Parts: sequence; C-alpha cells; structure tokens
Amino acid sequence: MEYKELGNTGVQLPEIGLGTWRYKGGPAPIQQAIALGATHIDTAENYNTEPAVAEGIQGQREQVFIATKVSGTNLRYDEVISAANKSLSRLGIEYIDLYQLHWPNSRVPIGETMKAMEELVDAGKVKYIGVSNFSAREMHEAQESMSKYKIVSNQVQFSLVDRYIEQEILPYCQEKGITVIAFTPLDTGTLAAKSLLRGRGASSVLEEIAADTGKTMAQVALNWCTSRDVVIAIPKANRVEHVVENCGASGWRLTVAQVEALDAAFK
Ligand code: NAP
Repeated sequence: MEYKELGNTGVQLPEIGLGTWRYKGGPAPIQQAIALGATHIDTAENYNTEPAVAEGIQGQREQVFIATKVSGTNLRYDEVISAANKSLSRLGIEYIDLYQLHWPNSRVPIGETMKAMEELVDAGKVKYIGVSNFSAREMHEAQESMSKYKIVSNQVQFSLVDRYIEQEILPYCQEKGITVIAFTPLDTGTLAAKSLLRGRGASSVLEEIAADTGKTMAQVALNWCTSRDVVIAIPKANRVEHVVENCGASGWRLTVAQVEALDAAFK
C-alpha cells in the first residue's frame, strides 16, 4: 500500500481506503482491509453503518483512521455537536480522526458550523476537519470562517466516468494542499465490469491497459484516480475478494502514456 499525506498534517493515509455506504459485509471485509493497509474507513451518520464499522475495527482502534460525516441537514451549532457525540457513541471510539460536513447547506451560516467543528477539535473529539461535495468557493468560505484549523480534505465524486472536479475543485485542492477523497471511484461497480461500461471504445482501452499491466479493470480504474496529485480513493466492497483486489490497486503506477490514454478514452 502506498500513502499520501492528509492535507499538510503529516498524517499518511493509504491511497485506497474502504467506503461503507450500503455496506452489509459484516466484520470480515473491514478486517481484511485493515490487514492490507486500507486503514482509512469512511462512514457517515446517515449511512447507518457506524455500528458495523465499530464491530469491524474492534481491538484495532489505534491502527485505523475513522472518517465520518455530519449530514448537511444538521449544520446548526448544536446539531453538529450532538451529531458528533452520537457518531462517537455508535462507533464506540473516543475521537473521530476526520469529521466531514457531508454536503453544504446555504441556509446555515458557515461560520456557525465551523465554530462547532473547531470546538470539537479543541475538545479532543475530532482530530481533523474535512468537507464533502464542496465547491472551490465553498471550501474557501469555510476556511475563511475558521480561526484555528485547516480544512484538510474534500470528499467528492471522482472516477474515469465522472471528472467534474477536474474543472475547479481538483486544481484548487492541489494548490492549497487539500486531500481529495474520491468517492464512487468504481462508478458503483460499472468500471469493474466490461458488460456494464458505457461506450465500447473507452471500455476496450481500459480492458487493454488491464491486460498490459496484468491488473484488473477495477485496479486500473482506481490507480487512474490516485495517479492525480492529492487524490486518494475509498471504494466500497461487501466482499472480501473485492477488498483484496482493490488494495492491489496501490503499490504500482500506470505510466504517463497509460494515464493519458485513459484520459482521452473517457473524456
Ligand atoms: P463504488 O465504491 O464506486 O462501488 C461500489 C460497488 O462496486 C459495490 O457494488 C461493490 O460490490 C463493487 N465493487 C467493489 N470492488 C469491486 C471489484 N474489485 N470488482 C467488482 N466490483 C467491485 O461506489 P460507492 O459505494 O458509491 O462509493 C464508495 C464510497 O464513497 C461509499 O461507500 C461512501 O463511503 C463514499 N460516498 C460518499 C458520498 C458523499 O456524498 N460524500 C457519496 C457516495 C459515496 P460489493 O459490495 O458486492 O463488494
């Protein structure tokens, strides 16, 4: 497993973590992920998977990096504090490594939300503050409203078939040293299955590169995500064999020519 720094924190995060939206795999896939170094486990208050994460990480709290989220409907000061306490309790942990605003909410002044986030860090309940689904402007406003801490990450959709962040969000994060956590990096599984891929030309390029590298299509699709500076990925897998395969997306690199061929095929 290869690692990238979380923001400018000095903390090294694995290029491949584990997402848990609609996770039903029980403890085994989470334990397998941790064993292979995919120690960044992502959940959220609205996934209903915090208890499953608690079960999967039992006895290994110090080896894992737990990321959870407060919903965009809970961004009032009191709601953030209460949501964090409930997540801590469901996760059975003393602190959240990365606490993220799940999505922005223009009806709540961002300063009110970030005040609660800073206080959670001061109280030792949260180590690092992140956001999710934030535009460059929203990241800037959230950062400006804080006095003590940095936003270290933005979790956003990014895959070969969803490249919206390349316009503004990714360049902004690269300039500011904010980690991009790519969600839905396998396009919910379609990038792992030739039969499901839209566009024959693009799928044959992905298939050819998989054959040339001796990797699977899923591994190539994930390695393409992490070929970008500051990007790490959190594929979700209920199945242990998928966890093992996805961890094999790290520890090697697509060549520049292969990345460019994929860029062009999926443009
Ligand atoms: P994803 O990771 O792109 O795809 C997950 C699907 O791909 C599952 O059906 C899984 O099957 C399958 N899969 C995984 N590895 C595979 C492999 N090697 N070969 C074949 N199929 C494979 O989609 P996602 O769950 O939407 O995104 C990942 C995570 O991002 C989420 O779980 C969540 O933590 C986060 N997320 C965040 C937001 C946000 O707003 N911040 C939104 C969406 C998702 P099995 O489960 O059967 O193994």
